Amino acid sequence: MGKVYIVGAGPGDPELLTVKAYKLIQNADVILYDRLINSEILFNAKPGCQLVYVGKEDGKHILEQDKINFLLYEFATKNDVVVRLKGGDPFVFGRGGEEAIFLKEKGIPYEVVPGITSAISVPMYAGVPVTHRGVASSFAVITGHGSKGQFPDINWNALAGIDTLVFLMGVSNREKIAQNLINAGKDPKTPVIFIEKGTTKEQKEIVSTLQEVAEGKTKVYPPAIFLIGDVVNLKDKISWYEKAFGKVEETV
Ligand code: SAH
Repeated sequence: MGKVYIVGAGPGDPELLTVKAYKLIQNADVILYDRLINSEILFNAKPGCQLVYVGKEDGKHILEQDKINFLLYEFATKNDVVVRLKGGDPFVFGRGGEEAIFLKEKGIPYEVVPGITSAISVPMYAGVPVTHRGVASSFAVITGHGSKGQFPDINWNALAGIDTLVFLMGVSNREKIAQNLINAGKDPKTPVIFIEKGTTKEQKEIVSTLQEVAEGKTKVYPPAIFLIGDVVNLKDKISWYEKAFGKVEETV
């Protein structure tokens, strides 16, 4: 019986892997990877390593979670090092916890390796800190998609009291999200930013307001981070990454 490593691959930039993740990828006999994994990361695998795509498209699993669990079990019985590679951090909307529970129930040894989550690093690459003295003393990371693809069940009143809100998987429901926050008392003029494909060379930023998002005025494509809060105003003072790549910022 081998060992399964549930590994976070970071948000996209291949250099944002942890040293531990990098070494495991080099040593893996099998890597089961998700859609948001940058292919440059997989180039680090050793010759003969079996690469298995188990991603999902637009919330629709190519392989159901049960099948992924079954594959983990199968590969673990026949290989020494099985890496389950996930975007960002495995325990931030990554279903890593479910896989860990399954492996424990089956008696398969495993380790979990944290990754840099897109929730914090992608805003950082756009020059937006999730907290900032005097501007934001709290932040929350929220899913914009319910577990079965429906609108998530969220306590909007509680959220409206948090300074910075970071929605993952929130692109398709962005209008509803914005409207719910306005209804719950968030100022419609609150600045927002969408960051598409963050930390990659294709990173794109769209700055707007809660009101404009609620009115359907923003054009955004996933994967993107949807961040709401006054910290967006710090962007011009802090931004660095898009300058390095000559990116053009879009404002609605
Ligand atoms: N475990 C991951 C999140 C998985 S949910 C993590 O910790 O980052 C997938 C969502 O993450 C996407 O819908 C998107 O909202 C966000 N995301 C992941 N990578 C991203 C990137 N490079 N740029 C923008 N958003 C990203």
